[in-house]
Amino acid sequence: MIPAPPLQTLKTYGLDIEKIRSDFPMLSQTVNGKPLIYLDSAATSHKPKVVLDRLYQFYSEEYGKPKEANRFSKTTTEAMEETRSKMAGMIGASKPEEIIFTTGCTEGINLVANGMARTLLKKGDEILITAFEHHANIVPWHMACDLTGAVLKVVPIEKTGEFDLEKFQGMLTDKTRIVSFSHSSHVLGTILPIKQICEIAHSREIVVMIDGAQAAPHMPVNMQEYDCDFYAFSGHKMGSPTGVGVLYGKEKWLQKIAPLLGGGQMAEQVTWEKSKFASIPTKFEAGTTPFVEIIVTGTLIDYLQELDMQKTSEYEQELMKYCTEKLSRIEQLNIFGTAPEKEPVLSFNIRNADVKKLETFLNNEYGMAVRAGHLTAQPLMKFLGVEKLLRVSFCYYNTYEEIDVLEEALKAFIKENA
Ligand code: PMP
Repeated sequence: MIPAPPLQTLKTYGLDIEKIRSDFPMLSQTVNGKPLIYLDSAATSHKPKVVLDRLYQFYSEEYGKPKEANRFSKTTTEAMEETRSKMAGMIGASKPEEIIFTTGCTEGINLVANGMARTLLKKGDEILITAFEHHANIVPWHMACDLTGAVLKVVPIEKTGEFDLEKFQGMLTDKTRIVSFSHSSHVLGTILPIKQICEIAHSREIVVMIDGAQAAPHMPVNMQEYDCDFYAFSGHKMGSPTGVGVLYGKEKWLQKIAPLLGGGQMAEQVTWEKSKFASIPTKFEAGTTPFVEIIVTGTLIDYLQELDMQKTSEYEQELMKYCTEKLSRIEQLNIFGTAPEKEPVLSFNIRNADVKKLETFLNNEYGMAVRAGHLTAQPLMKFLGVEKLLRVSFCYYNTYEEIDVLEEALKAFIKENA
């Protein structure tokens, strides 16, 4: 076995982690009498109190449906558009109209796949994804292929999780219309070179859709820098309430593609014969949206900006390195995904042991929330030659001490079971 590198000097990048932890009420919960150790933020993250307070305040003092005439409605309309502008600023969109509020990353990808299928894709066109996609970035493309006769192709990855730009380039043909890649893998952690991928694809007039579900919560992202055509992510993985997501789209594409849902708001003029769609972004926001949760996401943006996402990102990277170093010293444990640039997720299995049993053990004995299973990436599991993995994932509210407890717990489990 290769000896593990020495442990890092513990860095927090000027963040007051104890103070941050006190901002999150859920983190003071206990499980079976043990303090909750939450290592599952890649699945969903906890919410800071400012967000919860704003939710309560809005529902109790300011609630009114947007775009109506009453006083409360006016405030709601303004607050929602303010959040759209803040979001555009945070992710570097060129204008607020390029921000579509969805219910989550899944809806964003479906919106693009369906919109492309109904307007631009045709039989024989090729769509490329990578071998480490989440089902949310596979199934909508299968559906688009079923509708159009387009073909889904998969760019292979290395067993280590590394992505080879040359292999990607080699798969582009005159028929490639769309490339839809995760910014970072929810299993292996690999961060893709989005900017270069966009440059290569755009030189052949190929549309680029990025699934940012795992990246947007963990690093500052910038649409101008990447130049991607679409970028989708979920608020619930970054501290906002459930039911809120964002789809960024370049205006020229949002104008071209068909909306996913029809209904109120999104149609400007309706006759028995026909509907005329509203302009963007309203064209994609049919019916009554979760407008309070959207507005409250504005409070989350303020919170994240005050913390400084550059610092939280660096701290999360440090936690990951610390955990990787500790876990790579455990002989029976195999880590999957060793790319040099990784998101704060760490997936592994234990020789001769069931990771589902380990998941239950960690929860029952150590109050630890982790995730085990196929991790909504069945094709990737097949490629890796495993059925299940256990994933731990980090957020800026995690601590080095929690990783020490993880190490102790894993050793205890191995002693009894492997
Ligand atoms: N893509 C990736 C990479 C994910 O990790 C997830 C959530 N696990 C999704 C898409 C889907 O996100 P949601 O369920 O919030 O729509």
